Amino acid sequence: MKIGFIGLGIMGSAMATNLLKAGFNVTVWNRSIDKCSPLIGLGATLAASPRSLAESADVTIAMMATPAAVQSVRDGDEGIVAGLSAGKGYLDMSTVDADTSMKSAMLAHEKGALFLEAPVAGSRKPAEDATLTIMAAGDRELYDSSLPVLEKMGKKIMFLGETGNAARMKLANNLVMCGMLTALSEGIALAAGSGLDSSQLLEVLDSGAVANPMFRMKGPQIAANRDFPTAFPLKHMQKDLRLALQLAEEVGQPLFATATINELYKAALAQGLGEQDFAAVSRVIMK
Ligand code: NAP
Repeated sequence: MKIGFIGLGIMGSAMATNLLKAGFNVTVWNRSIDKCSPLIGLGATLAASPRSLAESADVTIAMMATPAAVQSVRDGDEGIVAGLSAGKGYLDMSTVDADTSMKSAMLAHEKGALFLEAPVAGSRKPAEDATLTIMAAGDRELYDSSLPVLEKMGKKIMFLGETGNAARMKLANNLVMCGMLTALSEGIALAAGSGLDSSQLLEVLDSGAVANPMFRMKGPQIAANRDFPTAFPLKHMQKDLRLALQLAEEVGQPLFATATINELYKAALAQGLGEQDFAAVSRVIMK
């Protein structure tokens, strides 16, 4: 199977690397062309445009930052859709809203191609280790034929039904993660502000019912107010909060805590923390 991979950011570059290491024939394209070089070094071919990539691939995978980024590589004369035809697959792994996914599906279907949305949970390290959780939805036929590809990027892979379901599931997942990180930051701030040793708070948390890998990984960095190596850019987490609130509005579900946490993330963006890891939101909380 010939694979095209577009969007070689933190996640996409690690995921495409795993496909190359697994022996797949991979063609790549990225807006900033320099990010293609390491992949070409591993045997990937460089495409001239998203369109020519989709023309040459059986399955085109995209891992883009935002809904606008998805549109910019999908639409237009040189976009992915222009290169699709009957028998091809378009697999979008970006975190976007359900409407963006449904538009992608419609455009793919108009060309006789199949569509699958497959956003992921897990950050830089799980992407490198091919241990992502992959939430897929859309054309079951493309899911079945792409499974050997998905299995080289993730360890937990779920099919969730019709297009839009995976986008919605991913947003529900991220608001939980974001709420937990915010609560952790506030707990550390309160402990430190009360004269307690915040590393002891981490010990207490880790020995109880709320112990989890994220607290273990990010807790010491937050407690020490160290620099945060960017695994998940804060600007993308705020995008996910915004999309989750948009979805909540559509279905009439109040999200009391998430609405407040979104304001916190907006404040972090205003402080110039957007390119840092989302754990840097603790800098807005800590005095
Ligand atoms: P990233 O490092 O910022 O990479 C984003 C990619 O999108 C880059 O290839 C970038 O191209 C491209 N892009 C952005 N705007 C564009 C535009 N207008 N036109 C064309 N290309 C554009 O992001 P990431 O961390 O890999 O995340 C990718 C997606 O996965 C996001 O939807 C994110 O929410 C989701 N996600 C991330 C993580 C994580 O921990 N990082 C975990 C799960 C899910 P350039 O290189 O030219 O900028």
